[in-house]
Amino acid sequence: MTNPPPRHRPRKRFGQNFLRDAAVIDRIADAVHARAAQHLVEIGPGQGALTGALAASGCRLDVIELDRDLVPGLLAAFSVYPRFRLHSQDVLTFDFAALARAGQTLRVVGNLPYNIATPLIFRLLDHTALLQDMHFMLQREVVERLAAAPGGKNWGRLGIMAQHLCAVEHLFDVPPEAFYPPPRVHSAVVRLTPYRASPWPHCDRARLRRVVQAAFAQRRKTLRNNLKGLIDDASLASLGIDPGARAETLELAKFIELANRIDD
Ligand code: SAM
Repeated sequence: MTNPPPRHRPRKRFGQNFLRDAAVIDRIADAVHARAAQHLVEIGPGQGALTGALAASGCRLDVIELDRDLVPGLLAAFSVYPRFRLHSQDVLTFDFAALARAGQTLRVVGNLPYNIATPLIFRLLDHTALLQDMHFMLQREVVERLAAAPGGKNWGRLGIMAQHLCAVEHLFDVPPEAFYPPPRVHSAVVRLTPYRASPWPHCDRARLRRVVQAAFAQRRKTLRNNLKGLIDDASLASLGIDPGARAETLELAKFIELANRIDD
């Protein structure tokens, strides 16, 4: 813990838990491994804990920060880097496509405010063609759901919708003491790398979303019950799926087959 507690008063409504553990900051920077030829986007730079390591690589760096009070400090610290640009706005309305217009894919990094993490990830999953990869610090439980395997309680909508587009790696866990103020939950760092060539080229995402939402609507119920109206027992059986099984036992490939079988 080498960084002193920050002077800015952390705001709960912006999910401000600032990283203060230099070893954790280095570990994230190593995992990202930014290069001068790349274009990085940092979400919620806060007081710049990660920003310094990213900017020092010489990469093109756009940062998006909602809290206006943090803007002067960020500009003072990082305007010296000619390829640094700050966007003082809400990332949930940010136009990633406009940023990637030059044809270069983006690398997205962020120690995310926990309240926006899931909607933001779903939003970015709509733009995977623009993205080289994403590194996020999240609540550990969310990382466990993103990287889950079939058969357990963590396997569900978030993991399936992420894993059909991206390779997901749970990199390492981070304890509450690494932050100021310490959050109530444990955190973890995850890497999402969109597939350039999809393992499932024939999958309609809207249908997959419908099937997954229905299949997990009531986790304790059988697929037969949850998928009533979308697909019948005979069709399930023809896909090799036991209608009496629960959604959490089905692997991703089976959800894709299901999505390809239902009507629009
Ligand atoms: N990156 C810094 C660090 O690791 O110390 C700060 C991380 S803190 C968990 C989250 C940051 O995201 C804060 O700076 C907060 O103001 C910012 N933030 C919160 N909601 C945001 C939003 N909707 N759009 C952009 N930034 C946001």
